[in-house]
Amino acid sequence: MWIFKRVADIQSFLQKRTSKNEKIGFVPTMGALHEGHTSLIKKSKSECDITVGSVFVNPTQFNDKKDLDKYPRTIENDVIALINAGCDLLFLPDVSGIYPEPSVKKYALGTLETVYEGSSRPGHFQGGCQVVDRLFEIVKPDAVFFGQKDYQQCMVISRLIDITPGFENIEMNIVPTTREENGLAMSSRNMRLSDGQRANAATIYQTLIYLKEHLAQGDLSNILKSAYEKLVEAGFKPDYVSIADAKTLQSVENWDGGTPLVALIAAFLEEVRLIDNMVLTD
Ligand code: AMP
Repeated sequence: MWIFKRVADIQSFLQKRTSKNEKIGFVPTMGALHEGHTSLIKKSKSECDITVGSVFVNPTQFNDKKDLDKYPRTIENDVIALINAGCDLLFLPDVSGIYPEPSVKKYALGTLETVYEGSSRPGHFQGGCQVVDRLFEIVKPDAVFFGQKDYQQCMVISRLIDITPGFENIEMNIVPTTREENGLAMSSRNMRLSDGQRANAATIYQTLIYLKEHLAQGDLSNILKSAYEKLVEAGFKPDYVSIADAKTLQSVENWDGGTPLVALIAAFLEEVRLIDNMVLTD
């Protein structure tokens, strides 16, 4: 696996590959890699000629400086995980490479940035777009791979691709969530859970299954209330437990029986905030 730290170096390397008509797949990450991340690398590998992974902890998407400082950094393990997954090239920039000047760009994300993760983490999606915009500009990928684990983020990136001149030919791929055996969605934050908490955290997945199994046309408030209670009984402090239109992310309280739906959960177990989701109508 090649490792590039400087923007000019990766650009000149990739230009040579593009001129040979090779399809470039790209998987941006913030490191602390687990099997969820490597599933994206493997998917890209199966569909592209060259797979680029990046590890960059993006300061502009953290609204709390303490969270940024606490973010796990495990680059040696990440390099091994990427090699084992078959990644061809790792881009490992520093902050000055990505932001030679502070980014002042604003993205028209509409209500996508004000609901759910957007309302809990103000500025998070603008910051996410700044880094992804810059990374796409550098890597110039043909195809990009993001995890369904971050459902709202996938919608934001699809919007970024739609609204940014030059990105219209990028193919967006959403890869299913990789889970632990008990159903807990893999996440770098799981490192902060004790063994007991990890077992307990599977309640989020069970609650999503409960919502899927009990979904029926009409008023959804009863199943949402039961879902909320299940989480509280398991020791969670839910941030949101909601069912939304899978295409617009507007919350749905009364289902017409036809609109595609996604269930979204964010909940704290002690101070660790976990998120997960499930499409209810496939
Ligand atoms: P992050 O490093 O957390 O920014 O995540 C980088 C990419 O990995 C994003 O596209 C995430 O959605 C994806 N990802 C994180 N966890 C999982 C998972 N459990 N399954 C699939 N994709 C994941």
